[in-house]
Amino acid sequence: MRCCIVPGAPYSPQRPTSSRNDPLRGPQLRQKKTVLAKLECLDNGKPIDETEWDLDDCAGPHAASWARPSSLSPPLLASTHNLTRPCCARPPAGCFDYYADLAERLDEAEVVDVGMEEFKARVVQEPIGVVALVTPWNYPLLMACWKVAPALAAGCCAVLKPSEVCSVTCLELGQIASEVKLPNGVFNVIPGLGAECGAALVGCPGVHKVSFTGSVSTGRAISMTCASNLVPCTMELGGKSALIVFEDADVDKAVEWCMFGVFWTCGQICSATSRLLVHESIAQRFYRKLRERAEAIRIGDPTEKGVRLGALVNRGQYAKVLGHIREALEDGGTLLTGGKRPPHMARGYFVEPTVFVNVRPGHRLWRTEVFGPVLACCTFRGEEEAVRLANDSEFGLAGAVCSEDVARCERVVRALECGITWINCSQPCFCQLPWGGVKRSGFGRDLGTYGLSGYLSPKQITTYVSKDTWDWFPEEQRRAKL
Ligand code: NAD
Repeated sequence: MRCCIVPGAPYSPQRPTSSRNDPLRGPQLRQKKTVLAKLECLDNGKPIDETEWDLDDCAGPHAASWARPSSLSPPLLASTHNLTRPCCARPPAGCFDYYADLAERLDEAEVVDVGMEEFKARVVQEPIGVVALVTPWNYPLLMACWKVAPALAAGCCAVLKPSEVCSVTCLELGQIASEVKLPNGVFNVIPGLGAECGAALVGCPGVHKVSFTGSVSTGRAISMTCASNLVPCTMELGGKSALIVFEDADVDKAVEWCMFGVFWTCGQICSATSRLLVHESIAQRFYRKLRERAEAIRIGDPTEKGVRLGALVNRGQYAKVLGHIREALEDGGTLLTGGKRPPHMARGYFVEPTVFVNVRPGHRLWRTEVFGPVLACCTFRGEEEAVRLANDSEFGLAGAVCSEDVARCERVVRALECGITWINCSQPCFCQLPWGGVKRSGFGRDLGTYGLSGYLSPKQITTYVSKDTWDWFPEEQRRAKL
């Protein structure tokens, strides 16, 4: 397959930044939220309550839905962005609103004092050019919006290659872009297989930047292509993040966050805190509550309101997750709960919330990203040991700590080798904050102002304002030569 992008395809540094992604911040996307949430739920298998949240994060909440707590259960209401809803003065921004607002400031040049009055200097931000955006299946539309919104706000021409596993809502976004009359060619969606369509896109000579979210192995292949083409890239890869629970933590709250950290979206989240480190003095009490709560999770048809655990995305993922569980059992792993298909779900790719305790830090279950509802637990005795075990991973995406000791929480998050940290919670994500990791979890950041700067190229404009000649090659020398 060949990918054809005309070099210098339509993106316009001259276009006023304030108008760039205005079309997509408009009501059209918001009006389609209900149908998009349903499509995402059917395509991916995650519960409808979750896909509705995802759509809020893309397009901003309906004016009516943010002001009043929705039908979500109280513990979940206290979790992600809903945390701010009942008390905040305005609705939390969706991705498109947030970046459209940021883009308005891009028209202003930054004046820089270079310390010589003969020179006046400014820095202006220009779009980096044509960007290739390659995204995964676990948050199909949201991951795309994390890239499309800042890319368009920056003034780039964006080509989105969604995952072949779940492409439907991204194709709908392309449809909306044409309905809102985004200029032709500014936003393109090309569905297809990774090794064919994705590889052709990232290797295309007309691409000026690649932003990728997905697995380590694909990230490595794409990085190599980018290196050989000298094209910058951003890599949002996998993780195996740890949640550390100290002996002074509120156990009920910590159990709730622990479950949210690994069972939300069926554990198919890069930032899942899928390793639990719990202080040995509270471990038995913690495990008892965890088991009780995990066994009460409502598993069922993802389209039903109130369901908290849906199906895994496809047969391959189902086989992979069950394979990890089987291997842990064969190695003598201690299963606290779960480990199989829920008895009441005879069909579909459902797996019970699964917890292994006393997992050896060297075991595959401790080290490998399962990407399913599987938690690996072990105990620790002191802070130093907890941090060492948490950091003993090839990944470095996220980390969380639960403790009533503020100073200890601060010490621990500073010591964690990762890009995202949480204190007394796990997983909340806000479009204003940078998202990304270190080590094999990748480099560069989505979201926040960092997410926008990745699509910009700074240009300095330096003006000589003195009336005097520069005089490095003095006139006397010329005259002396005559
Ligand atoms: P994947 O790497 O299999 O696929 C991701 C995307 O890359 C898809 O669109 C796929 O078609 C494309 N692709 C595959 N091979 C390609 C190639 N050779 N060239 C170009 N494109 C190619 O990942 P996945 O299974 O879709 O997603 C799961 C992974 O994504 C997990 O490892 C998860 O941790 C990671 N993830 C990371 C983040 C983050 O923010 N760090 C967020 C979500 C998912």
